[in-house]
Amino acid sequence: MKISRQFTVFGSAIFCVVVFSLYLMLDHLQLDRIKNPINEERLQNGQLVILQDKIDHLERLLAENNKIIANIRDSVTNLRKSVNNDKGPLEAKNLSQGLVDLLPFAPIWVLIPSEDCQFSAQTYSKAADEVQMLDVYDMLSFDNPDGGVWKQGFDISYEENEWDQEPLQVVVVPHSHNDPGWLKTFDDYYRDQTQHILNNMVVKLHEDERRKMIWSEISYFSKWWNNIDIQKKDAVKKLIERGQLEMATGGWVMPDEANTHYFALIDQLLEGHQWLERNLGVKPKTAWAVDPFGHSPTQAYLFKQAGLSNMLIQRVHYSIKKHFATQKTLEFFWRQNWDQESSTDILCHMMPFYSYDVPHTCGPDPKICCQFDFKRLPGGRISCPWRIPPQVITSDNVQQRAHMLLDQYRKKSKLFMSKVVLAPLGDDFRYTDAQEWDQQFNNYQKLFDYMNSHPELNVQAQFGTISDYFEILRKVTGMDQAGMNKGVSPFPVLSGDFFTYADRDDHYWSGYFTSRPFYKRMDRMLESHLRAAEILYSLTLANIKMFGKPSNYPAVENYKLLTEARRNLGLFQHHDAITGTGKDWVVVDYGTRYIAFLLPLPVVVHCCRTSCYFLADNSLFDWFLRYYNLSVQDFPMNVFIMPSFRSVVVYNPIEQARSSVISIYVTTPHIRVLTAQGRTYTTNYVSFVAHVPPLGLAVYQMSEGVELHTELAHYMFLKKGGHVSVTGAEQFRVAIPQETVPVSVENPHLQLFTLKLKENGLKHSIKVDFVWYGTTSNKDKSGAYLFLPDGEAKKYSPSRPPVIRVTKGPVFSEVTTTFTHITHTLRLYNIQGVDGQAVEICNTVDIRGEFNQEIAMRITSDINSMNRFFTDLNGFQVQPRRTMSKLPLQANFYPMTSMAYLEDSNRRLTLLTAQSLGAASLKSGQLEVIMDRRLNQDDNRGLGQGVLDNKITANSFRLLLEPRNSAQEVTTRENNAPFSYPSLLSHISCTYLNHPLIQMATSVDPALLTPVPHSPLTSSFPCDIHLVNLRTIQSQVGGGPSEQAALILHRKGFDCGFSSRNTGLLCSTTRGKIHLEEVLTKLKVSTFTPVSLSLMYESSSTPKHQEISLKPMEICTYRIQLG
Ligand SMILES: [Zn+2]
Repeated sequence: MKISRQFTVFGSAIFCVVVFSLYLMLDHLQLDRIKNPINEERLQNGQLVILQDKIDHLERLLAENNKIIANIRDSVTNLRKSVNNDKGPLEAKNLSQGLVDLLPFAPIWVLIPSEDCQFSAQTYSKAADEVQMLDVYDMLSFDNPDGGVWKQGFDISYEENEWDQEPLQVVVVPHSHNDPGWLKTFDDYYRDQTQHILNNMVVKLHEDERRKMIWSEISYFSKWWNNIDIQKKDAVKKLIERGQLEMATGGWVMPDEANTHYFALIDQLLEGHQWLERNLGVKPKTAWAVDPFGHSPTQAYLFKQAGLSNMLIQRVHYSIKKHFATQKTLEFFWRQNWDQESSTDILCHMMPFYSYDVPHTCGPDPKICCQFDFKRLPGGRISCPWRIPPQVITSDNVQQRAHMLLDQYRKKSKLFMSKVVLAPLGDDFRYTDAQEWDQQFNNYQKLFDYMNSHPELNVQAQFGTISDYFEILRKVTGMDQAGMNKGVSPFPVLSGDFFTYADRDDHYWSGYFTSRPFYKRMDRMLESHLRAAEILYSLTLANIKMFGKPSNYPAVENYKLLTEARRNLGLFQHHDAITGTGKDWVVVDYGTRYIAFLLPLPVVVHCCRTSCYFLADNSLFDWFLRYYNLSVQDFPMNVFIMPSFRSVVVYNPIEQARSSVISIYVTTPHIRVLTAQGRTYTTNYVSFVAHVPPLGLAVYQMSEGVELHTELAHYMFLKKGGHVSVTGAEQFRVAIPQETVPVSVENPHLQLFTLKLKENGLKHSIKVDFVWYGTTSNKDKSGAYLFLPDGEAKKYSPSRPPVIRVTKGPVFSEVTTTFTHITHTLRLYNIQGVDGQAVEICNTVDIRGEFNQEIAMRITSDINSMNRFFTDLNGFQVQPRRTMSKLPLQANFYPMTSMAYLEDSNRRLTLLTAQSLGAASLKSGQLEVIMDRRLNQDDNRGLGQGVLDNKITANSFRLLLEPRNSAQEVTTRENNAPFSYPSLLSHISCTYLNHPLIQMATSVDPALLTPVPHSPLTSSFPCDIHLVNLRTIQSQVGGGPSEQAALILHRKGFDCGFSSRNTGLLCSTTRGKIHLEEVLTKLKVSTFTPVSLSLMYESSSTPKHQEISLKPMEICTYRIQLG
């Protein structure tokens, strides 16, 4: 009876979808006719083509529908069979049918308007003046000839009269690179160096108005600001007004660009920019990134969206620098790969030489340039490694010294198109004492005065800020000052990225993509955690404003906690933090900051809406317990339930309705889960499917008792040639291998081990194994930054055979294999939703006992991917990669922040990741990920230690296999398109993986909790629109909240070429449109203003009726007031 009703609903829904699709098709045909009543002939031809297309499409649609109907027929047959075989609920082998009944209805097809598919299907055409990095990689030989004084470059010559018509303009930019943690902790650096640098800056810049300085780390600047008096603050403001001090970039830190997720990149930029606006009224114009180990176009995009006009990068592969120098393309407009117009262009300067220190910034010869680093004057603490010291500039030597320096400036300028040359003047933690300021500024001023007073030299030299440089550059090249109106600009357009960085020889910096993976995982968890807290906090404030309750909500205190959390998360995005390249104790310091902000956050999460008033007492909740178990937890089993009455409150931090499994440790096997929708139990931990509305909360009550309609999970242990003893639990069974191998677990979509898609019945051979990399026997070995392996990986073959545990249950089934160094779990969820579509993989690795070893997971498939694969950049975009045999093995590793995939014309295999790691595809069909590294020596990049503080680390992944709808599409643009997009299912799976349901246990009397879910949204967001954040803005005075929040949205680019049928997605796409007030259940939007990414600028166009419209890939911010 129940089953047949279920089928009826199921069937009629499919019918509706089919009819509706047909209707849409006809509607489109008619519209086309009305819209184009001009130009008869063209119309006829054009329309015939369109008509033909439509008919083809219709035919495909009908074929799909026939398939669906066939599936329905099969399901009916199967259902009949299972009804006949039904021996009662306790003996049922699988509860999935019963569970399906409980799920919110997921449409068979995701509704995607055809316009939404055009973006990803666009054909790529390279603009004439465009430099595409994939082509550059193809073209370069990556040889490493000795270039003479400029070792990695070439001899530069010039004619004396080259500047006769247009003099050389030299802009010397004093800078001090302050790492917020590296060899010392943030606080120790501040105490020992940074505060002195900033204190001296105020004095020394005031001594001479021609002196300039730039600063970029707001984390340090704000700490100093809090410690100085009002006079000093006024003095600083004066320096900024006069243009002597420039705040460059203005982020909280200078972030890493490989391991960072765009959520955190935006968050730290916003925190810095907001601080600057509140305290100094400053809007940064130019980004300055001299030290991140490789550069990502995501960062360029974010700068552009924030309203910056220019940027500078430094750490780029030496062969690429040399190539660009020969082409004079070190300055370019950096454009996103997907952007076929010019809306993402930002002017970028790439520094040409090895480093950002003085020996490598004045010109090509470090031996000469070092003599113009006056901190290295004889008698000082540091000297020139080229053995020729600087000389104090006097009237006797000024002529000779000025000519020497000018020669370097002239040579450097030959690498650029304009006659403006940039010469940064600084290094790590420079300008600490007053004497150093005098040494640099006085000696340089004498040199400038000499040059400028000799017109025959045709040079104008001066101190400047980085924006001064770009201003002059834009002026001489006829560009407008801030915008990207190129005018007569000689600069090319460049698309692509700058990974993987090498600074010399075969020293590729691909080790840090994985170093200290424990903290990389922790970072991702805390990002999710902070985002959830931000959103709940903002909704709470709006609720209080609207309904006046709760009246005792500690809004200011909680806001201060949030601010602290943002800043600690921001700090960890620094290029020596998330990279895993700090000293052991600095790493511990970052970890401690994390834990410290982690504990207060639940307070923010818990007291968040009028009907969640009961959550106000933090002592009643212990959901953060899971984070303490980070090292040993594989799948999130979060909360310990007492035998007494307790409830679990589940929060869904994502903007889509969702059904996901949650697992909870329990002290008795007899647990009842009481909900508005479902109930089930198993032993040791209880797992059940929670249905939670978008951004909503649901309550589940737990009590002791036996529930009839549920099933215990079955466990089996397999061990070759040995015994596993399990006592006291009838659910466990020990099996001898021959009897049960191969083990198979399955859900309605997939079957392990030979991955079999149920939909098309095809078997796909996919194998997971583990491999070791050693380190080379050469002098330079792998360390925190560098990966220098001793050749190809060796198969992991532990001396003892693994213990295998097979769990078969109604909600999920899994196989856990325990080796000496790895516990590897494959899990299939037996649910119809998104979770049921992928294999979940968790590897808990422990290599603490090893010597110079790195352990990797290698997935081998029968996908004919050749040398192509894809990795994401910062979770924001996908970058196509080519594995190249002309490069050493370590150069073919790339950062993987959220996913990597392989594809051929039929299928795509995607590995989604919950932490940043290094990945490669060294052979066709193969994808591998380094999971941890233990290295016994330093790699000579200044850290001065190996990586020996390994922890037991759990890495989580999902593996998704998707068949392509049509084989032709991909082959036609196979080898040239520099862009690629995940499917909608892949995007949403990734969001699920990175933002698990948040579970809070409470001992509050269940009678006080309503089991009806709380839904702040009327519906899910469109599948392709992601709520990056809803972040309450700080008030102008005090540290509390204002009434406004920053709403940050991202419209994801997605590939329609994969089946959108039966994906379990509870959303559709809407041509990038979303109407804000319509998606809010109760709250009202009182103000709504589009602003730049970090709130610095307001948009001139006001959208009508709060209708938001985003272009594909676009990230936009809105300043809104709710309530
Ligand atoms: Zn640095």
